[in-house]
Amino acid sequence: MKIVAVEPFILHLPLTASSISDSTHNITHWGVVGAKITTDTGLEGFGFTGTHAHLPSDRLITACIRDCYAPLLIGEDATENARLWTKLARHPALQWVGRAGITHLALAAIDIALWDLRAKQAQLPLWRYLGGSHNAGVEAYNTDIGWLSFSLDRMLESTKRAIEVDGFRRIKIKVGHDNPMTDIARLTAVRRAVGPEIRIAIDGNGKWDLPTCLRFCHAAKDLDIFWFEEPMWYDDVSSHASLARATNIPVALGEQLYTLDAFRAFIEAGAVHYVQPDVTRLGGITEYIQVADLAHAYRLPIAPHAGDMSQVHVHLSFWHPAASILEYIPWIKDHFAEPIAVKDGFYVRPEHPGAGTTPLAKSLAGFSQPIA
Ligand SMILES: [Mg+2]
Repeated sequence: MKIVAVEPFILHLPLTASSISDSTHNITHWGVVGAKITTDTGLEGFGFTGTHAHLPSDRLITACIRDCYAPLLIGEDATENARLWTKLARHPALQWVGRAGITHLALAAIDIALWDLRAKQAQLPLWRYLGGSHNAGVEAYNTDIGWLSFSLDRMLESTKRAIEVDGFRRIKIKVGHDNPMTDIARLTAVRRAVGPEIRIAIDGNGKWDLPTCLRFCHAAKDLDIFWFEEPMWYDDVSSHASLARATNIPVALGEQLYTLDAFRAFIEAGAVHYVQPDVTRLGGITEYIQVADLAHAYRLPIAPHAGDMSQVHVHLSFWHPAASILEYIPWIKDHFAEPIAVKDGFYVRPEHPGAGTTPLAKSLAGFSQPIA
């Protein structure tokens, strides 16, 4: 199965709301920036990374795919994806400027497309191609109800709908106001509205420092918070280790970490309880599996971040023994041949061959941005 073409693409897909904010980001669209890899068998694989739909930086990723990686891939056997990962990631000139950032996001797109091809060639959904389903059910948690930009009334209304109409038993609320007591007041109102049975996780998106987090966690101790995600700056291992020792609220992180080595540093330091890898920021599925196995070796649960809006992670979560729960954000699902679906709070197991990454032709036609 020889690679004959590698074609980058950029899609800017609208959110369910006109815009959303957390403590750090404000966006109106999700960027699906990736590659279609065509083989001499006629099979096509799709892979992508997730962005904030910022066209100038999206074009840096597609330029890396088109100008740096494609020439290294043309003529190669697509079934040798493990070797190709190393060929791209450890190419001396690219390693010199990369190992994280733009080159790694581009690598993620390529690696996912190659796994998509292998599973399609086997005519199996990725989870089955990898060896089958360890997990009978993958529970979803809904992030799209608790943005920092939502008023308390809107958050309560969307939370009520998610629980009573859509069947979610888990939600995530964004935190990170300048005064953390504003967040305590919002969370107290949510806890009062949903009762004791609903699992509430929170996400700070790296905004606060250690003293603010300590003060917040002390004030939140009676709210039964399931985890505190990205409490502090993404790369700060020692502060997260200090917080993990000081509070009973479990720490979750990983969506901003690019490499296996970065995860190892947090895990070895005891700085994370829920490990949150993302295939679209790590070097694709290949490196995700390494991180998931590392977490499993420490008996830590993994709860992937939905940079792929969980088209790929749903396969990996049914498959991998360390998988626990999976984020749900419904912004891009309807642009794929097999959209993710949640029923009664649990993910529906995908059954189409591949990695769940094939966009609809009409979405490619209607939402593509010019790559240069
Ligand atoms: Mg997050």
